[in-house]
Formats: sequence, structure tokens, C-alpha cells
Amino acid sequence: MKILVTGGAGFVGSHLCQKLLAQGNEVICLDNFQTSSKENIQNLLTNPKFTFILHDVTVPLEIKVDQIYNLACPASPIHYQLDPVKTVKTSVLGAINMLELAKNNQAQILQASTSEVYGDPHIHPQTETYWGNVNCLGLRACYDEGKRCAETLFFDYHRQFKVAIRVIRIFNTYGPQMAENDGRVVSNFIIQALKNEPLTIFGQGNQTRSFQYIDDLIAGMTKMMDNDQDFIGPVNLGNPTEFTIKELAELVLKLIPQSASQIVYQPLPEDDPRQRRPDIALAQKKLNWVPQIKLEDGLKATIEYFKEKLKKH
Ligand code: NAD
Ligand code: UDP
Repeated sequence: MKILVTGGAGFVGSHLCQKLLAQGNEVICLDNFQTSSKENIQNLLTNPKFTFILHDVTVPLEIKVDQIYNLACPASPIHYQLDPVKTVKTSVLGAINMLELAKNNQAQILQASTSEVYGDPHIHPQTETYWGNVNCLGLRACYDEGKRCAETLFFDYHRQFKVAIRVIRIFNTYGPQMAENDGRVVSNFIIQALKNEPLTIFGQGNQTRSFQYIDDLIAGMTKMMDNDQDFIGPVNLGNPTEFTIKELAELVLKLIPQSASQIVYQPLPEDDPRQRRPDIALAQKKLNWVPQIKLEDGLKATIEYFKEKLKKH
């Protein structure tokens, strides 16, 4: 099968390209390197079944493909807020361009949506039937509303043009191949602890997140694309074990005992969701999927990755 992965050089995309190649597929990786570099796909470039296209998803594309995974979009708050207008364009124009490509090829297309569509949620844990609580005027809206509009486009292309869609809502995911300057909490804490710098907790640290290891996400994502019951979603993919940010900081310090880092408290960013935990009953029922990797084990693997990376740099 010929599979296009947009955002394929990023954290999630590079793991996905690797898995799809290992399954024997031909993979076309599209990226503009806005939040990534060649480093994550360097080892794939010599594979004859792997092609890289330097392209921006906001620009239409005409190629032959059987499946599309649409991942292109900055995912970390510091990156998506740097050029918010571009973030909206990437989500919305990117979705239109990739849905047109799917329509013209009669290809199946999966959208990497996000738990951010739930905003600062009023129901807990979040089920797919919850419509969310997003401030459409806030600093996070370029990402949240961009992703919500992309979901709308996916469902309208499905109803109007019969495009074979799949929509997943990804909850906080971490692991090797996150960029050093990514800015999300897991990579920040690990890098800070390895460099003996203060761990920066925003707010009091009592806000919660549920952290999913990358291998669990990739397993759920490919299961969703390949499910043959025409289950289109949206479906939550995340780890339902919830931690406060303070607990995460303490766990990172416990796993890097040689670190001299202390915890410091900084202001909480605007509209930062107070709690986040997926209800994964739907994924369990429809995809027979549950995450396997405990936070402590996933953190150990991620710490090893960043140790090596910091040594090299
Ligand atoms: P990432 O920033 O590592 O990867 C995103 C990739 O998209 C990068 O390689 C970037 O260069 C590329 N990109 C950005 N704008 C582009 C454009 N206009 N044209 C072409 N390429 C572009 O982030 P990630 O964590 O790998 O996230 C991948 C996808 O999964 C994103 O769509 C994100 O919204 C979604 N997601 C991720 C998480 C998570 O916790 N990792 C959670 C929810 C949703
Ligand atoms: N956060 C933090 N310190 C950091 C980075 C993030 O305390 O150095 C907090 C952030 O305010 C949020 C949580 O950790 O409450 C998760 O942030 P992240 O950027 O990883 O993802 P998101 O907010 O999109 O879930």
C-alpha cells in the first residue's frame, strides 16, 4: 500500500513512518520542517520504500496514494502560538487539501485530532459525546478551533463526498524523538532534570494530564485506520491514568536521582485546562485497544533517549 504521512518528520509522524515501513508499505513523508528537522527521519532516507517531500499542507498536492495520515500541525502550545494565523491555516487549509487528495484518489484518510477539542472540560473523564468548552478568543484557540474545524471538514467530506474518513482524538503523548525545544511538559522536565536546571511547574502544579507513551498511540492509530467495521470515530486515544503536573515532576526527579534540580513555580498560561483524562471505553470496544505502557516505564525510555541526545549535542 502507498501511504502518505503529513507531518511525517515530527515526533508522532516519524514513529508512524517507521511502523508503516516495517509492515512493508511504501511511505511518502511530507513535511515543511516547521517544528522538526531531518534528524528524526535520517535513518529512513536510505530505505527504497521511503520518499520525503518538502511541502506545506496549506498548498494543494496531486499525487497517487491509497491512504493518508494527516498529522501536519505544530502540537506544542509554544510552537502553535508563535504564528497563530499560520496554525489555523495549517489545520483548516491542510485538512481541505488532504481531503481533496483523498477524494481524488478514493483514498482512506485519518485525521490526528486532539483532546484540545474538549477545551477546559466540564465533564470528567472526557467521552467522545462531550462537545467541549473552548474559549474561541483565547491564545489556545488557533489550535483548538483549527482542530475542531478540521473535524467538521472531515465529517462534511464524508457526508457530502463519501470520503472514507477516520478521526482520532489524541491525549498528551510523549516519548523518544520529541524535539529538544518542543516545550511540552514531559520533555521539558526530563531535559531540565538532566541539565540540573530548575523544573518549571506552571501554576501550583495541581492541574492534571494523562500521559500516553508513543508506542501505545501508534498501535491505536494504525488499528483505527485499518479497522474494517467502517468505524470512523471520533475516538479518544490516550492513557486513562491521571497525574498532577507536580506528581510528574516528582516522578521525573525520582527517575533521575543524580539530578541536582529543584522545582520552581511559574505563572499558569491563559486557558490552561485544569484536568484531562480520556474515557477510552469506545476504543476498547471498537478497536480492542488499551494502552500497555505505564508512565514510569515510558519515562525511563524517554530519559535514555534524551541522555544520548544531550551527549551528542
Ligand atoms: P510535532 O510538532 O513533533 O510534529 C508536527 C509535524 O508537522 C512537524 O514535523 C512539523 O514540521 C509539521 N508541520 C507543521 N506545519 C506544517 C505544514 N503547514 N505543512 C507541513 N508540515 C507541517 O508534533 P506531534 O506531537 O508529532 O504531533 C503530530 C500531530 O498529532 C499533530 O497534528 C498534533 O496536533 C497531533 N496531536 C499530538 C499530541 C501529542 O501529545 N503529541 C496530542 C494531540 C494531538
Ligand atoms: N507545563 C508545566 N511546565 C512546563 C510545560 C508545561 O507545568 O515546562 C504544564 C502546562 O501548563 C500544562 C501541562 O503542563 O498544564 C501540560 O502542558 P503541555 O504543554 O505538555 O500540554 P497541554 O497543555 O497541551 O496539555
